Amino acid sequence: YSTQSASAQANREGEFAPVSSAPVTRFSELSRLGVNTRLIEALTRGMGYDAMTEVQAMAINPALKGSDMVAQAKTGTGKTLAFLVPVFQRVLMDQPDLADIRNRRRSSSENIRAIILSPTRELAEQIGVEARKLAKNTGIVVQTAVGGTRKREALQKMWREGCDVLVATPGRLNDLLSDPGARVAAPKLQAFVLDEADRMLDVGFSDEIRDIQNSLPSKNEVERQTLLFSATIPRDVVHLAKSMVRPDNFQFVQTIK
Ligand code: ADP
Ligand code: MG
Repeated sequence: YSTQSASAQANREGEFAPVSSAPVTRFSELSRLGVNTRLIEALTRGMGYDAMTEVQAMAINPALKGSDMVAQAKTGTGKTLAFLVPVFQRVLMDQPDLADIRNRRRSSSENIRAIILSPTRELAEQIGVEARKLAKNTGIVVQTAVGGTRKREALQKMWREGCDVLVATPGRLNDLLSDPGARVAAPKLQAFVLDEADRMLDVGFSDEIRDIQNSLPSKNEVERQTLLFSATIPRDVVHLAKSMVRPDNFQFVQTIK
């Protein structure tokens, strides 16, 4: 108790930086890290989650502080929310009016805030489902763009509804970004996620990923966060990661189980 009051005193006088606290391991406690209430409600009341999984606890805390990240954890350990939570918070932080649905600015397919790349259509659709649950009541518009679907229809949906967060396969995203008629762009991209990076390279998407990186605004123009998630980290994933993350603002997260 006395230590607490001493540090409170020091803080009041501005002598010390705020006392660092234990990492948050429950979704309901994310308010301590300043996470938007609507996101917390979606996670707890909407989706019914309570305790974070190991990779979620290890990744969400530093990612909320803006750090780039390479995270390794086995399949089925909850990696999707480990990146969705910090990405959504970042999108909401910069656009607080998004949360006020009555007063919401029009979302645009030419101003995408976050891009999540997934190696297959099925995985992208699964991420899209989870992302829409999380987006409920936040005003964030989530779209998916995958191969094997009618491009025109998907585009018309994006133009009509807007797009804040895009979940895509690399081939289709590359196609959209390189087609000026598609009116898909991300000049103010705030977050870029590569999910299942090992599978992405196995499927042979490294050229597409490079092209996508080249069509996005350079990191100097926008403060963009890059998160790379993978079940395994073979040499080619290390190489890709090194070309993507900011070496001075980067965390490597690895779960043991
Ligand atoms: P991964 O991407 O690591 O393979 P997923 O993100 O697909 O794992 O999650 C696997 C399963 O675990 C999903 O059914 C998801 O709903 C569930 N899940 C994720 N996080 C939690 C949690 N904190 N508590 C309980 N179940 C969770
Ligand atoms: Mg996954």
